[in-house]
Order: sequence, then C-alpha cells, then structure tokens
Amino acid sequence: MSEKWNIILKVHRQKQDETPHFDEFKMEVDPDEYVLDAVERVWAFKDRTVCFRHACHHSTCGACGMRVNDVEKLTCITYIRDVTQNGGMIKVEPLRNFPVISDLVVDMGSLYNRLEMVGARSVLPVPEAEIENPPSHWPADDRQYIRLADCIECGLCISACPSQATNGDYLGPAVLAGAQANGLKRNPELLGLVNSENGVWRCHSVFECTAVCPSNVDPGRRIMDLRTQIIKERVGGLFRKA
Ligand code: SF4
Repeated sequence: MSEKWNIILKVHRQKQDETPHFDEFKMEVDPDEYVLDAVERVWAFKDRTVCFRHACHHSTCGACGMRVNDVEKLTCITYIRDVTQNGGMIKVEPLRNFPVISDLVVDMGSLYNRLEMVGARSVLPVPEAEIENPPSHWPADDRQYIRLADCIECGLCISACPSQATNGDYLGPAVLAGAQANGLKRNPELLGLVNSENGVWRCHSVFECTAVCPSNVDPGRRIMDLRTQIIKERVGGLFRKA
C-alpha cells in the first residue's frame, strides 16, 4: 500500500485585475507523486477555476514550469517528497519576469520572440560536407540535422535570472544560450546582438540559470563562452573575412 501524506497546497491566484493572493487546499497525497499531480487534483476535485499549463508530463514540452517553494521547477518531474514533508506545505507560483495571464500561467511570448531573433532551434540543418563521420542512421539527404541543445523553452532560467528581474530588455539566458548553440562563426550577424547593451555583458555570472535548467543546457557556461568569443573577435577579428 502506498504511503500517504497530508499536505497543504498553497496556490497563487490572480485573474486579470485581481490583487494577487493565495488559496490553500488541504489534500492527501502519495509523496512519490509529482507536484503537478497535486495541482491537477485541485483542479479536478476542489476548484475548476485554477488555471495552469501542462502537456507532456515527462519534461519534454516545458509547459508546467512554476516556482515551487520559491525555486523554479518543472512540476511534472518534481516529487512531492523532495519539496515538503508529511504535514507540510507546498507553495506554487507562476514564473517570474513574465506577465501573469491567470493564476499560474504566464505570457511566454517575449521568450519565443527572442529565440526567433537568434535563430535558436533544437535542431539545425547542416550541409553534409561539414559533418565528420555522420551516423549511418541519418537520412541520406543533401542536408543533415544535428541536435544542438536540449532547450525545451520552459523559461525557468528567465524566471531565476536576477539580471532579467532588473532589466526586462536583457535577452536572457535561454536566448543567449540559443545564440551560442546556433554558432557565431556560422551566423556572424548575431555578434552585434549578443554584444549589445542587452546582451552577454548584462549577465552577473551568478549561474542561477544553470542551476534551475531541467535540460542541462547550461546557459551560464554558454554566456561565458560567448563573452570569450566576443573578446577574441575584438583582438583577432575571428569573424572577419580575410
Ligand atoms: S535554457 Fe534550460 S531553463 Fe532555460 S528555457 Fe531552455 S531548458 Fe528551460
């Protein structure tokens, strides 16, 4: 028989012009359930007006990102036993640094638009001639595809970033990681953007982005790598044509 805990789920509520507040829901849970399961149970059995996003339930879509007890988490892979105890409380809030649409749902449009600006894609077509030893299972096409990064566009890094909190125009960790993955040598036109006042130099190197990223994209390291590339360009004209 599975273990049962009694917990309180404290849910951020905010509809349109409503003043933000919390509603608390007492519930019995299996501690090996996920936080998203608890939120779904509130919606299913206690309050149909609770608004939240979810889709894949296996950390692929990035939809269920929330702040759980003040830390950015993908709630579909966050075990209840890892964030509270029997008789304890779990507080769930929307991600920071995005406008709240309703309760736990934020408008992620700024992230998606900026990812478009840097041409960030999880896979990138590459001329076959540029690829050394392509795996035999790759399609026999004149272009091959490489997976550059596992960013699931969840926005956790944006929420956790203190620089983003003080400057909404900062491109932010996921976007700069996307630019780095896309490649400055391959896309020298990105240099001006990542080297701009809202680019890599806004980062305060606290690596909160890397700490919360559920996909090991390591945006902090990628931002540092972009800085190195920019300095090399200043010194040696890395991207200038001979
Ligand atoms: S870099 Fe990581 S934390 Fe940021 S959006 Fe991508 S997967 Fe999420």
